[in-house]
Amino acid sequence: MATRCCPYCGSSDGELVSRSLTRAVVQPHQFWLCRRCGRKAYEIISCTGRELRLYMLEPGKTFTKEGQEYVVQRVLRAGDREYLLYVRPCPEHES
Ligand SMILES: [Zn+2]
Repeated sequence: MATRCCPYCGSSDGELVSRSLTRAVVQPHQFWLCRRCGRKAYEIISCTGRELRLYMLEPGKTFTKEGQEYVVQRVLRAGDREYLLYVRPCPEHES
């Protein structure tokens, strides 16, 4: 398994929180939690078909979640009403 690292600070000290739909833990998204900078970087975002249409989400589209910009890489249908967005954080804007 490839070592993941934080897309913001490059640290590999963090935790990957995977999708989990067991009864005990309902965690529809997958994201990386960085211990160094404390930021959360989504990798997979679960959404409904309605949200998909509302925000016109498709590969190449950028959108904002929790104040961070992401680019949609892939859209996969996961069920009757669920879609999975594979996303990548946009590069930080130069300040
Ligand atoms: Zn970080």
